[in-house]
Amino acid sequence: MATGSVKAVALITGATNVRGSLHFIQEPNGSTHVTGRISGLSPGLHGFHIHALGDTTNGCNSTGPHFNPLKKDHGAPCDNERHAGDLGNIIAGSDDALDFFNSLVSKKLTQ
Ligand SMILES: [Zn+2]
Repeated sequence: MATGSVKAVALITGATNVRGSLHFIQEPNGSTHVTGRISGLSPGLHGFHIHALGDTTNGCNSTGPHFNPLKKDHGAPCDNERHAGDLGNIIAGSDDALDFFNSLVSKKLTQ
């Protein structure tokens, strides 16, 4: 298998005005970075997680638990003990749009 980055895109749409797209880039060393843009959020903090399932037919109730392939406890992004999908809070400003980041999901998610 050739070395290179693995990429995926998640689109955010729904019944509310919240919209966006997220780009996941897994580097050859196993680190995964998330970048993207979300609009329609109310100003303030919003918990940001990757869930185990992509099923949004029943909103967040059908997306399953936080992505946790290493069977760890929930935690903050800076903690060693955390779900791989625990990305902390994102902060939306009053301009109705949020661009981010270089949010590190985890290293070696496939181990
Ligand atoms: Zn969690």
